[in-house]
Amino acid sequence: MAEVLVYVDHVDGAVRKPTLELLTLARRIGEPVALALGNGAADTAAVLAEHGAVKVLTADAAEFADYLVVPKVDALQAAYDAVSPAAVLLPSSAEAKEIAARLALRIGSGIITDAVDLEAGAEGPVATQSAFAASYTTKSRVSKGTPVITVKPNSAPVEAAAAAGAVEALPVSFSEQATGTKFLSRTPRESTGRPELTEAALVVAGGRGMGGDFTSVEALADELGAAVGASRAAVDAGWYPHSHQVGQTGKSVSPQLYIASGISGAIQHRAGMQTSKTIVAVNKDPEAPIFDLVDYGVVGDLFDVVPQLTEEITSR
Ligand code: FAD
Repeated sequence: MAEVLVYVDHVDGAVRKPTLELLTLARRIGEPVALALGNGAADTAAVLAEHGAVKVLTADAAEFADYLVVPKVDALQAAYDAVSPAAVLLPSSAEAKEIAARLALRIGSGIITDAVDLEAGAEGPVATQSAFAASYTTKSRVSKGTPVITVKPNSAPVEAAAAAGAVEALPVSFSEQATGTKFLSRTPRESTGRPELTEAALVVAGGRGMGGDFTSVEALADELGAAVGASRAAVDAGWYPHSHQVGQTGKSVSPQLYIASGISGAIQHRAGMQTSKTIVAVNKDPEAPIFDLVDYGVVGDLFDVVPQLTEEITSR
């Protein structure tokens, strides 16, 4: 069976959920061989093996530590040369998409980004994407070289599938390009303790209807263990950071549950959230376009409804 190279997103050995989802998709098109880089790379092996990785290639070097992309491209290319995979899969994070694009350029392959599904095809893997502000669903495949494909978080279930997961150290030598950029400094953002927006299984989002006060949305999010999203109107008003904007010019999310509070449902907002599995909206205007999209809609004042919802969940 053909091998599929999977780029592992992990933090000090803790594998992030989108990588486990990638392994589910990789198993549909071949045998997953995982590549884990940096501190704790070898610690990822047990979890990766439990989810179907037949082999785990690892490499650690100071060059991987500081968010520089090219050393990781060098390592991925070394893994590509060693494995000759049928496809290379990466999560659709900002960093991994840059790594994917650079690898595709180096190996002369086509690339598909932000796939939401993947299946085996007679002429190679077929990727599903959502296009033109989610007005269309497209299916495409790479017609030149080894397909390099990035997949959005929450696109596939995490499935256990025991495999050998034999750990193998990958020798990596760094290109001139890798040493051409120097890391200067990093300023960590204060953690809210909430999940990352694009990976969260649950998202509670607020819009202009919040009137500048996101307290009720944050309280509901914390009760549910959800991430907080915002419409562009709320972000432009300076009520919430741009990193939380959902939509065409913000982030795309596809959680199990998306709760939109005081958001009208403009096409540009829908583009970033309409693939959510269950959508709930709270809006005082019964004619708000968001209601065309929802599974459950509550017509009412969010300042009454959202706290009641939080209270109800707390009491259970
Ligand atoms: P509004 O459209 O003003 O809606 C506010 C809603 O809150 C209304 O439906 C109102 O009935 C309701 N409301 C008010 N008070 C209450 C209350 N007390 N209780 C309950 N409901 C209440 N937008 C995005 O979100 N993301 C994007 O990425 C994005 N990209 C864009 C890109 C381009 C090129 C352009 C042109 C626009 C983009 N927009 C984007 C903007 C988009 O067109 C809308 O303007 C924006 O989504 C509106 O945000 P909103 O729903 O919060 O505000």
